Amino acid sequence: MSSIIQLLPDHVANQIAAGEVVQRPASVVKELLENAVDAKATDIKLIIKDAGKSLVQVIDNGSGMNVTDARLCFERHATSKIRQAEDLFSLNTKGFRGEALASIAAIAHMEMKTKLEQEELGTHIVIEGSKFMSQDVAVLPKGTSFAVKNLFFNIPARRNFLKSDTVEYRHIIDEFQRVALAHPKIHFTFYHNGSDMYNLPPSSLRQRIVNFFGGKTNEKLVPVVEDTEMMNIQGFVSKPEFAKKSRGEQFFFVNDRFIKSPYLHHAVMAAYEGILKDGSQPSYYLYLTVPPNTIDINIHPTKTEIKFDNESAMYAILRASIKHSLGQFNVAPVLDFERDANLDTPYHYKNLEGEVPTIQIDTNFNPFAEEKPSKSYSSSSSYKRVEPAATWESLYVDVKHDTSAVFGRNEFASSNNNDFSFENNEFAFENEEVTSSLFNDEEVEQTVQRTYQIHKKYIVSPIKSGMVIIDQNRAHQRVLYEQFLVNMTVQHASSQQLLFPINLFYSTSEMELIAELQQSLVNTGFVFEDSNPDHIVISGIPVNITESEVAVVLDQLLGDLHNGIPENSFSQNDTIAKSMAKSLAVKTGAYLTEKEQENLVNGLFACKDPNVSPFQKPTFITMRVEDLDKKFAL
Ligand code: ADP
Ligand code: MG
Repeated sequence: MSSIIQLLPDHVANQIAAGEVVQRPASVVKELLENAVDAKATDIKLIIKDAGKSLVQVIDNGSGMNVTDARLCFERHATSKIRQAEDLFSLNTKGFRGEALASIAAIAHMEMKTKLEQEELGTHIVIEGSKFMSQDVAVLPKGTSFAVKNLFFNIPARRNFLKSDTVEYRHIIDEFQRVALAHPKIHFTFYHNGSDMYNLPPSSLRQRIVNFFGGKTNEKLVPVVEDTEMMNIQGFVSKPEFAKKSRGEQFFFVNDRFIKSPYLHHAVMAAYEGILKDGSQPSYYLYLTVPPNTIDINIHPTKTEIKFDNESAMYAILRASIKHSLGQFNVAPVLDFERDANLDTPYHYKNLEGEVPTIQIDTNFNPFAEEKPSKSYSSSSSYKRVEPAATWESLYVDVKHDTSAVFGRNEFASSNNNDFSFENNEFAFENEEVTSSLFNDEEVEQTVQRTYQIHKKYIVSPIKSGMVIIDQNRAHQRVLYEQFLVNMTVQHASSQQLLFPINLFYSTSEMELIAELQQSLVNTGFVFEDSNPDHIVISGIPVNITESEVAVVLDQLLGDLHNGIPENSFSQNDTIAKSMAKSLAVKTGAYLTEKEQENLVNGLFACKDPNVSPFQKPTFITMRVEDLDKKFAL
């Protein structure tokens, strides 16, 4: 029998390799930008059309190639960056596999123009699906330009698999950001569909970060510097008070290459231990330089993970130096996360003259008179924190009242516990009238307490068949979520006008997201004044949020949208409503007054879908009397 194994033709092999190297337009952006950096360019332009689906072009003023190299660079395993296996351990370049151009050329229409500095003329090559279409001599500036059009033109399945322009564009920004942050001395410009998105002149590291993420970033940064034999650390971390709800700007660069490292991330988080609000995330931009022979960047095909020889020592050094920086800049000890944000002085009051306080005395005050329960609760989302002590007594009185009724009647000492009658009205906290509906509005004014908060987490309330246990956070999320959705879809949400508009600063990409969401946000009750390139001015906010919550809500929203804005306006509204409900809902650990508890319970059961939170988690469970009976029967 004749042999059946054959070598694959090059263009097929290249197409297969492309599957690994090129997942989406952003992969092309990454490869071309890295090649330009490796070619020692000082000026790199990135031009994108339709989120890279129609065009990705990178123009650099780097070394350029001679005519032979211009042809060779499209061959697989053609690289100028390593010669032998040992070179892998002393890498100073981004690329080394010699695969990128061959792969991209196999699945796109590509045009290259390149010229060496010392030569008069350059080379112009067109290659489509690995086939050379033309090669000319051309008058060109020094450097190289690669234009990649119609990505995946010959692999329709891959092309169909691409996400919306918004999502693909976000991926491109991510890649651009990683390269631009790693090389602040290079001038980067970025155009999308003809508009100028970023212009980053050569600058210091700090300036590059600020140029990228917006003017307000500067004041958030604390420098980190450390030089040891094993590694050099430079960069910045954010002051803890600027920590975000979501993992946004967290970057490690090792030898100028962006990497992901859950282990080193952990070291950073360990440095912040005790000074971050639960679940909040600091921003960091950390540049580690290590001897090339102590790392192995080979373990991941797209090269964002690397292996270090002495990981645990790096962990310790990184943690210690960040801790030191945070301490040195005096940010650690002054923090008080327990403070109530509502009490913060709004900035427009800060410069006002102090006023001499006047004293008012209530001459009728009688400390022994019975105190009226406060009616502090407003129907808005701002559940005010009340010190437990304030209502502790009243809470206890009611409980005593109920339990004494039970114990008085049922001879608690009797050994015959099985006869415990849960049917009797005294034990059940409820009265007969309540039983017609789950919660009867007219009963709100009744003096007997019908809800109890336990562990500042659950609200327990008796119902006819037994009791209901409500998760306060999830229940409130559901209530707010439905409120926001109604506001947005009915489209005449009321807003509260602010006396002093709020200015909030954002990075360019965040500003874009906000612009895209603007209409939906307006529908919730936000009022925006004319927008500026780096900040928004808010003059009105939805009625159910407070001024101090605005920044948090938008921050959370931007975090939630990091992976792209949903396509249609329905899911856009849904995402916004979910995100705002998540930020504003009363949290586990918040004390709720009796009135607040009742309002929450009533609010929940007035919802269209009270059973689950907007994130499909159960909001309450019920326990029937029979279930309790069974437990006592054991
Ligand atoms: P690698 O970067 O892994 O070497 P690539 O396929 O990306 O592989 O590139 C192949 C070769 O083409 C590079 O090694 C380099 O010599 C050359 N090259 C690619 N892009 C450029 C550029 N922008 N300027 C100069 N030379 C380039
Ligand atoms: Mg390369």
